[in-house]
Amino acid sequence: MSTKAFAAHSAESPLEPISFDRRELRPDDVAIEIEYCGVCHTDIHFAQNDWGFTRYPVVPGHEIIGRVTAVGDKVTAYREGDRVGVGCMVDSCRSCNACESGLEQYCSEGNTATYNGIDRYDGSITFGGYSERIVVSERFVVNVPDKLDPAAAAPLLCAGITTYSPLRHFGIGAGHKVGVIGMGGLGHMGIKFAKAFGAEVTLFTRSENKVAEARNQGADHVIVSTDREQMQAAADQFDFLLDTIPVQHDLNPYLNCLKYDGTHILVGLVEPIEPTIHAGQLVMKRRRLAGSLIGGMPETQEVLDFCAEHDIRCDVEMLDIRNINEAYERMKRGDVKYRFVIDMASLRDMEA
Ligand code: ZN
Ligand code: ZN
Repeated sequence: MSTKAFAAHSAESPLEPISFDRRELRPDDVAIEIEYCGVCHTDIHFAQNDWGFTRYPVVPGHEIIGRVTAVGDKVTAYREGDRVGVGCMVDSCRSCNACESGLEQYCSEGNTATYNGIDRYDGSITFGGYSERIVVSERFVVNVPDKLDPAAAAPLLCAGITTYSPLRHFGIGAGHKVGVIGMGGLGHMGIKFAKAFGAEVTLFTRSENKVAEARNQGADHVIVSTDREQMQAAADQFDFLLDTIPVQHDLNPYLNCLKYDGTHILVGLVEPIEPTIHAGQLVMKRRRLAGSLIGGMPETQEVLDFCAEHDIRCDVEMLDIRNINEAYERMKRGDVKYRFVIDMASLRDMEA
């Protein structure tokens, strides 16, 4: 079906309107009319080809909320009219150990990304949520509880699950001292989840003027990471650090803040670590450096249900899709609290 969208055509060009055809429903597919789509830093990386493997044109967007408009013959979990979500993946091999464990993000064949991925059946390039509608296998669709504000729920599908999953995996809860590094889309959700799990939470931020805001978000303490004295005073204090910084940064001062057996968890960085880390920071205290990627489909459902139950919401700023390029510029400056969400009515309203 002909579908309006916004796409980047090269690393240098701004996003602009295009139209393309969404596929016909396969037996296990759900067709979704998109109501809201969050804007993630990854979208900017792909639009600009920062990682060197963007396939143009690219239609970004992997924090998708919408209504089911049709289902394939074999679909059992969803019906027309249901409010649903789609996150960072739309397929995987479904038979490897990771997939059978509900950890499709770690599929041995690699998961199929919601955009810039390659469809496993017809070889086409996947297009994401900056569009009117999407067609996705029901296995990669989640139910959006009625209690959630649908616009504020969109970022849970990437920013939310990315921070929820490692906190759960490592069993973070009461009695733990947790540091969250960085307070953007991911960091502000990390603070909320770590608090909800009962931990004592400290935000590490470079900027003095985020101190009050971090406390508003629920942080018990704030450390200004550019202040050497504050960093020295934090040595050997933390059980876990959740590091949401998406660009290269020095990990050594943070590792020094972990207790023995403490764990530094990377969720934002997918580039080489520079400057290099001093192995002594790990060896001398049996510390661990770990990474974590989004979450599997069962856990993505779990985070939506958890947020409905505990009244946790992402802080969002609504965006008209015609202002998407300006929004990217603001995000690069860190000028958003804390996630842009596109109101897809603004795309439907545009002249064909
Ligand atoms: Zn994302
Ligand atoms: Zn697999």
